[in-house]
Amino acid sequence: MTELQIVTLPDEGLRKKARPVTKFDAELQTLIDDMIETMRVANGVGLAAPQIGQSRQLAIIESLPKTDDEENEIEDSRDLFVIVNPRIVWESNDVVDGIEGCLSIPGYLGEVERPYSVRVRAQDRHGKPLKFRLKGWTARIFQHEIDHLNGVLFIDKLTARENLWTEEAYYEMQKAKMEEEEEGVEEETAVPEPEKNS
Ligand code: ZN
Repeated sequence: MTELQIVTLPDEGLRKKARPVTKFDAELQTLIDDMIETMRVANGVGLAAPQIGQSRQLAIIESLPKTDDEENEIEDSRDLFVIVNPRIVWESNDVVDGIEGCLSIPGYLGEVERPYSVRVRAQDRHGKPLKFRLKGWTARIFQHEIDHLNGVLFIDKLTARENLWTEEAYYEMQKAKMEEEEEGVEEETAVPEPEKNS
């Protein structure tokens, strides 16, 4: 497998609607395997074809690993999704705020409001139809990746313009918040983990 180069802003391809995939040939299979490799090396949880300079309706998503009682990662417990020509066919009225990052906007995190739950139709890597009912974290990553296929980035959907931070500033802010809370209540609080880059 080959590691591909991830493009970053202001790459113009990130702002274009990607073209539908019509050929499910060997070349596509190689591209998908290379994208999986690239996403894992970059420590991402999702990657859309425009992020590696390809105008194709194709994205991959990998869920977070499950953990055991002692919070250790359970090996091989991640789910990998390959979605081709995906579309969101339903979204919940329920929305949730979450912190997102993007491999194409390195070093930044932002707060984005998204439907809590969505239904997606797509094709698998061989063209077979797929249906997903998603919620929570997985639904968020699917929406982030499908946005990429329409030229939309998370910075377009911030809850407020000022809710975009460098990673450094975000962690500083969380630390400060935590210390403030500790002064008020004698309770242990943890820095909330942001969503990983996708
Ligand atoms: Zn992204």
